Amino acid sequence: MNNPREIALELLSDFGLSDLRSTDILDVISALDIPLKFKSLTGCDGRIIHGDNKSLIVINENIEFDTRIKFTVAHELGHYLMHRDSPIIHSDNISSMSWFNNKNKELIAQQEYEANTFASELLLPTEIFKKEIQGIKFSPHLMKQLASKFGVSLSSMIYRFVEFGNQPICAFYCRKNIVNYWKKSPLFTYQIKEVTKLSPPDDSVAAEYFEDGTIYIKEEAIQEITKSVWLVKRNKSDYAGADDFENDKFYEYCMVYSAVDLAISVIWED
Ligand SMILES: [Zn+2]
Repeated sequence: MNNPREIALELLSDFGLSDLRSTDILDVISALDIPLKFKSLTGCDGRIIHGDNKSLIVINENIEFDTRIKFTVAHELGHYLMHRDSPIIHSDNISSMSWFNNKNKELIAQQEYEANTFASELLLPTEIFKKEIQGIKFSPHLMKQLASKFGVSLSSMIYRFVEFGNQPICAFYCRKNIVNYWKKSPLFTYQIKEVTKLSPPDDSVAAEYFEDGTIYIKEEAIQEITKSVWLVKRNKSDYAGADDFENDKFYEYCMVYSAVDLAISVIWED
């Protein structure tokens, strides 16, 4: 097992950098003398091919967003640094580079998880992230600000907040009207409904997108929901709190990527 965060921080420190805000990751790749080329790939953002002496990173030249190019390069660099001796050929797409650990313990999933963690730490070291959010409440606006400041995607920023934020949130990754997986902050103590491999629950904002194509934007992007939408009411004897599942306010923010029929919903309590 590798320690992807440590490897990313060592690499930054080798270059005398604290993060990659002012450095083009492609310059890092050339300084490391790693062959990389852009070409048209189908159904795949990037891949790495390991030869006997050298590895070649190929990035899809048709990727639309800079943040996605940067992340894909960082992800493949992670494979290069950590998995060169492994026989697996990585062909990466939206699913292998998803931010959510799908808890699959097979080697390939382990390697994808390591490459994602490496990329995330390289683009925004955890310690810097923690300083940025110190004393500030979670909001989609804050996530957008930080995503643009560090040149990373909004979904990766939200994933980072799930892992290391100062407030409990939970994110659900839904594709083609199915909740693939969810991840909650360690601080999130509510019990989540059984939703994995099912459609998002009725009355959720994610369900509105899949059922009617509703996408809320601007002032309406944050929708008020009740606790009972995504959460399970536990037996009274379980806890001393006075949760009112039908009336207590919760919020849902649903990011929609309609080109791939993907919705990532985040829920939190004020
Ligand atoms: Zn990969």
